[in-house]
Amino acid sequence: MNEFKALIRKTGLRSTPPRIAVLQALSKISMPLSHSELVDKLAAQDMDRATIFRNLNDMTDAGLLSRIDVGDHTWRFEIKNQENKNASHPHFVCTDCGDVSCLPTANVQVSHYPSASNNKVGNISEILLKGHCEDCEN
Ligand SMILES: [Zn+2]
Ligand SMILES: [Zn+2]
Repeated sequence: MNEFKALIRKTGLRSTPPRIAVLQALSKISMPLSHSELVDKLAAQDMDRATIFRNLNDMTDAGLLSRIDVGDHTWRFEIKNQENKNASHPHFVCTDCGDVSCLPTANVQVSHYPSASNNKVGNISEILLKGHCEDCEN
């Protein structure tokens, strides 16, 4: 619990119970969660949708969370690596069930591809892999 308080305060935000609860829920799971998934997870703690939504946005603005869209028009949130805010990891989305999971950075080396310098793609900010998750494959 204290580690989350410290984390929140470091960003200049006030450490409040809803913020701590959101961080706790996100830290327990190795996948980014959408607003409605968090609402479900925090339902037992008597937190309303608007409070969770507001705090997700506050913490994203403060650089504590990052927000990703895997192409289904749903924002998903996860705790940002505070040691290296520019570090990002690839995500895997199952095209059958829509589940999104985080992949370790070491699994994908996008920097080697494409190597042609005349390939102007700009800055790659996100790597997204699509396929069928283990559950859907069986
Ligand atoms: Zn699946
Ligand atoms: Zn992730």
